[in-house]
Amino acid sequence: MSLQERARHERELGEASAIVARCRKCAIGATRTNSVYGEGDACAALMVVGEGPGETEDRLGRPFVGRAGELLDRMLLAIGLPREDVYICNTVKCRPTLDLGNRLGNRPPTPDEMRNCRPYLEQQIAIIRPRVILALGAPAAKSFMGEKFSISRQRGQWFEGPMATPIMATFHPAYILRMTGGAMAEVKKLVWNDLKAVRTRLDEPPPSAAEPPPQQHSLFD
Ligand code: URA
Repeated sequence: MSLQERARHERELGEASAIVARCRKCAIGATRTNSVYGEGDACAALMVVGEGPGETEDRLGRPFVGRAGELLDRMLLAIGLPREDVYICNTVKCRPTLDLGNRLGNRPPTPDEMRNCRPYLEQQIAIIRPRVILALGAPAAKSFMGEKFSISRQRGQWFEGPMATPIMATFHPAYILRMTGGAMAEVKKLVWNDLKAVRTRLDEPPPSAAEPPPQQHSLFD
């Protein structure tokens, strides 16, 4: 990736992020503290897509910076990827909230909210052109693979995502954190297998390099 190309990706992401910061397509555009566009390497081979920003993310304007984010960082490091080498974002860029009377709670994004935000996510994919997308949790997985997708049965399998990008879903780190004892160990094992498959896919030569070189004709054929 040339320096010019990298600069172009960064500029395009910056411009798109400024548009998202002004977006009011959904009601959560009015209740957010900050939009959470995404962050990481603008030319990343791996894009991680979560559900939506939570309280900490909303406050800081950055994805996956709460407890689930700390676990995500450790999961990525386990396959040799520091957080800054990956691009991390969500299906929706504003925090979906629930009025709990004395405070706001988190909730999963609605299908309408995901639909409104979809062009922003697809634009991110088109700018970054990752080699692999990892969707975290059922809402993110369903947003790519369809409503019928079952995270417990179909996680760890490869599908074709936007722009023909290979995509896999695994359990959300927040789900792992809600488990205890043997159940947690079991889920961690499954996620670890999924992450290893992602690493293997990333280590494969890019499609262009895997193609046989064009036949060379010398001047003397
Ligand atoms: N959970 C998500 O899905 N996304 C975040 O950014 C944080 C927690």
